[in-house]
Amino acid sequence: MTKKLFWENQYQVEFDATITKIIGNSVVLDATGFYPQGGGQVGDTGYLNGIRVVDTQPGEETDIAHILEIKPFFSVGALVHGKINWERRYKIMRLHSAAHIVYFLMQEVFGEDCKPASSGLLDEEKERSDYLFEEKLDEEKLKLVEEITNQIIKKGYEIKTWSENGKRYWKMELFPAMKCGGTHVKDSSEIGEIKVKRGKKPGKGKERIEISLLP
Ligand SMILES: [Zn+2]
Repeated sequence: MTKKLFWENQYQVEFDATITKIIGNSVVLDATGFYPQGGGQVGDTGYLNGIRVVDTQPGEETDIAHILEIKPFFSVGALVHGKINWERRYKIMRLHSAAHIVYFLMQEVFGEDCKPASSGLLDEEKERSDYLFEEKLDEEKLKLVEEITNQIIKKGYEIKTWSENGKRYWKMELFPAMKCGGTHVKDSSEIGEIKVKRGKKPGKGKERIEISLLP
């Protein structure tokens, strides 16, 4: 079992841990700050003892697998130093936090016309979520979603995440708690300004909404 340091402190960039398993290019540690792909959020990248971690994936049972660029020269039982690609992860944390706010505002602004369908991929570039739409998507209303989200972000609301009965939760003032195991910022003001736009239509009666960070 890999201890999830990224849940204890979402801002932890570096850590030391012991190798418990090596399968090919994949390394399992007793603890990690690397977030494994899940819930739409991509896996972290970074370095283990200077070797590039190109991806992080859920491993067997409760393990977390760090996929290295090359076959590692270290062995089971060795202590290694991990460092996540913080610039990339912080963008993901900001986008992920924004996605929760947009999720609630889409339903608030569009009302009964719009229902969440599925959340797609979240990487450092974009967050993409699909919604069921009964009517044609009104671009002006979407602009309103973007405006209100940016106003809320700016106000600086505390964002809480915690574990309860084996589940992980997200909560920000103004909105109800939501199940989510991803990584988020602690205060909405950290997100900065965002852009909300319509993505490629995912299918009949559906719209894809994409969120990106403004530079
Ligand atoms: Zn989340």
